[in-house]
Amino acid sequence: MSDTITDRCEAKGLRMTEQRRIIASVLETSEDHPDVEELYARAATRDPRISIATVYRTVKLFEEAGILDKLEFGDGRARYEDAERDHHDHLIDMQSGEVIEFVDPEIEALQEKIAEKLGYRLKGHRLELYGVPLRKR
Ligand SMILES: [Zn+2]
Repeated sequence: MSDTITDRCEAKGLRMTEQRRIIASVLETSEDHPDVEELYARAATRDPRISIATVYRTVKLFEEAGILDKLEFGDGRARYEDAERDHHDHLIDMQSGEVIEFVDPEIEALQEKIAEKLGYRLKGHRLELYGVPLRKR
């Protein structure tokens, strides 16, 4: 994956204002799953003129263009992730809210098998596991 979020926005014909570029670059460098408030906090350190309303509108625009994935981890906050990141699934620690990424070849294969059994070729999936730590930390 070499195209940046900004490249992909431009390829889709989105008008890239300076503030949208900053938000795109914040998303580009985020390795986690920030919600709008977190993105706003990160963007505001680069340009204090950015408003939370602009961040809301921009992530919605990027999401509608298929550039971002919107994730919901059961706490009512929408989080965002670059849609072009390598495929992975999420485990959510229900105590700390920490999000752990994983890929399991057995799960991947099993899902394909299930789809096939139902007469489909699998084109994608989304899986979220919710758990509490086995051991106290
Ligand atoms: Zn993720």
